[in-house]
Amino acid sequence: MTLIENLADIVGDQNLSTHADHLSVVSKDESTLPPVTPLAVVWPENTDQICRLVKLCVQSSVPITTRGAGSALEGSTIPLENGIVVDLSRFTNTIEYWPEDLQVQVEPGLIYDDLNNQLKRDGLFFPPSPGGSGDVASIGGMVSTNASGIYSVKYGGTKEYVLALEVVTGTGELMTLGNRAIKRSSGYNLVDLMVGSEGTLAIITKITLRLAGLPEDRLKTAFQFTDEVSAATAVSEICRYGIDLAAIEFLDRQVIEALNLLKDYGLEELPCLFLEFHGPKPSIESNLEMAKSICEELGGRTLSLSEGQQPWEIRHYVTDSIKYRQPGYTIIRNDVAFPISALPEMVRYCQELAEKHQILIHAFGHVGMGLLHALILADQNDKDNWATGMKVNDLIIRKTLELDGTISGEHGIGLGHKSLFKLEHGRSVELMRKIKGQLDPHNIMNPGKIFD
Ligand SMILES: Cc1cc2nc3c(=O)[nH]c(=O)nc-3n(C[C@H](O)[C@H](O)[C@H](O)COP(=O)(O)OP(=O)(O)OC[C@H]3O[C@@H](n4cnc5c(N)ncnc54)[C@H](O)[C@@H]3O)c2cc1C
Repeated sequence: MTLIENLADIVGDQNLSTHADHLSVVSKDESTLPPVTPLAVVWPENTDQICRLVKLCVQSSVPITTRGAGSALEGSTIPLENGIVVDLSRFTNTIEYWPEDLQVQVEPGLIYDDLNNQLKRDGLFFPPSPGGSGDVASIGGMVSTNASGIYSVKYGGTKEYVLALEVVTGTGELMTLGNRAIKRSSGYNLVDLMVGSEGTLAIITKITLRLAGLPEDRLKTAFQFTDEVSAATAVSEICRYGIDLAAIEFLDRQVIEALNLLKDYGLEELPCLFLEFHGPKPSIESNLEMAKSICEELGGRTLSLSEGQQPWEIRHYVTDSIKYRQPGYTIIRNDVAFPISALPEMVRYCQELAEKHQILIHAFGHVGMGLLHALILADQNDKDNWATGMKVNDLIIRKTLELDGTISGEHGIGLGHKSLFKLEHGRSVELMRKIKGQLDPHNIMNPGKIFD
């Protein structure tokens, strides 16, 4: 039998496709990297089928790329041309729910916003809401990239919420890692090993998450500054004083310009911070007062949004507004993270680079965690302009590493950041390879992602 016949034997004809339209959908993610058409896509119906699929791929030396919603930004979801895609978008059930323990067990294809819509009736939520993709990102994809979001400054990223995982390793073996205890000192932490592993170690088939209680009250506000460095300094000061923030997002003036162009918001084109506070009213008020006085000392003033304008709705459109700003131009992306006190220096550095190289840089992000996106727009058809864009990106990442930061704070390494990965991790990349070899001895789990 051929590979396709064997695959169909496992999942059924109706759950397999080699049709060009289906293959085109799974050939890419949301990065700007070129698509790669795989041999087939399968939509397994249960874990037993996944184990059998993996065993078949081991026998046939066929690489597997697991797919959630395909919203990743660094090419980690782009398959191999001699490989298959295991699409888990139909694994959307909530398996068990323990509201009294603030815990839930879900299938990996469940979408972030759908989970939170289910939880809100009990006053609970899974906090690390990805800024612009909560409506599409799957929980499996979030675990596999250790995604974070606007609320991570207060509540943490995905890693802080994963208690246990059921996985199918690269040999087709099913195992459970972790349990429902919220604190463990019991052996190696294999759950954390899986978080952020970008489908290179195993296919995650069940996820047990901790949850948080919805806040008693919340308040959103925005501040505007005359310059980017003052806004960034305000963030690092607010964090230094331990002010209890649920979210603090930075948008530089290039981002505001892009947003006005896309959505006609009519915002004054100045850098700004969007903040949200959670808690009982009196505590919100005192935290707001402290944040406000820091912003004002740095020349900031309260930004009154027009009727109907919501900070998080505006924030949601940031990536799209940059994407569509200059027709024919492509985003060169980064998602660096560093100690919070370095934020003003990084913002200043990005501005200097933009000025010196005459290139468009849009800086924004979940800056309360020292996480910054400095998206560069460049023309792939203009050799010089593209080379400049790539060079500037490289400089931003190298500067981050000098500051003891990381190449990726939330999007992962995928294909996009592979070249500088060794610079961050040095000899420990060899150890990572050995660990992969234990879980995936035939190198069929998303090979070529993170490192070669
Ligand atoms: C507009 C926009 C805004 C975004 N904003 C943010 C943000 O604020 N914060 C953030 O962190 N990210 C953000 N992202 C990136 C993206 O949404 C996240 O990385 C998300 O977690 C990916 O989920 P997914 O279901 O789309 O994963 P996919 O793209 O399908 O997969 C991502 C990786 O996980 C692997 N994978 C997926 N499911 C499994 C599984 N069950 N088992 C094993 N491996 C698996 C894949 O092989 C791949 O390596 C944004 C993306 C867009 C397009």
